[in-house]
Amino acid sequence: MLNGKTALVTGSTSGIGLGIAHTLAAQGANIVLNGFGDADEIERIRKDMAEKNGVTVTYSDADMSKPDQIQQMVENAIQQFGSVDVLVNNAGIQHVAPIDEFDPQKFEQVVQINLNHCFHTTHAALPKMREKGWGRVINIASAHGLVASKGKAAYVAAKHGVVGLTKVTALDTTQSGITCNAICPGWVKTPLVEQQIEKKAQEQNCSVQQAEHDLLAEKQPALEFVTPEQIGAYCIFLCSEEARTITGAEVKIDGGWTAQ
Ligand code: NAD
Repeated sequence: MLNGKTALVTGSTSGIGLGIAHTLAAQGANIVLNGFGDADEIERIRKDMAEKNGVTVTYSDADMSKPDQIQQMVENAIQQFGSVDVLVNNAGIQHVAPIDEFDPQKFEQVVQINLNHCFHTTHAALPKMREKGWGRVINIASAHGLVASKGKAAYVAAKHGVVGLTKVTALDTTQSGITCNAICPGWVKTPLVEQQIEKKAQEQNCSVQQAEHDLLAEKQPALEFVTPEQIGAYCIFLCSEEARTITGAEVKIDGGWTAQ
């Protein structure tokens, strides 16, 4: 379905982004991977993804908190592939502390990576999408783009910002063949959440299994984690012709979290 198209997925060396990249590659898209991690492991992922799917996969180590590196990453992708047709803005970090104890530098960093990078990638990729008359921008927001939790000032502010940016991007690209939507997942078991589960187990002096159950029970009535593959499958749908009039939407994949 995506043969001949190119997808750039930010933060795709791990977790949700990696799952989305696998899913898009399986549909025939060339992939630009991005994110941090062990160089050998990233090269293994890149090579396997390319060989398994018969597509071209490249990797950029651009830091999503640095606008000049973001611009360069998108320019390089356009130079190599002709355009970025599917842009998935997924890179993100978490930091938890009460607002009066929240490190101001950490606040800036979370907003830069979780929100600002979505602007900079979109700003750089849209002109070519317009030229080609087709494009898909998918912003990975969060249930925390719609509701709040205590201690997550920067993350919640950034993710609400991502939902707002999604709506403006959608309005600014109507009648152009481009859509922009936000996916708002609930808990997905990735390194980002595993850290929070381990912290919870330590604080409550309980097993990791118990902490996992408590984490889900507190927010996600389905009592099961969302998977990166489920989010990837929704990205594929958003890339289809059938989804051409879905734009500016906040798609909840959250096991009932925000229905409460
Ligand atoms: P993760 O920690 O597994 O992956 C994050 C990715 O972002 C990694 O590839 C990492 O290298 C990359 N990254 C971090 N800082 C970066 C930077 N400065 N520049 C470039 N890349 C950077 O986390 P995840 O859970 O897969 O999260 C992915 C996205 O999904 C995030 O935006 C997160 O907020 C969102 N999300 C996660 C959950 C969840 O429960 N895991 C729920 C809702 C939304």
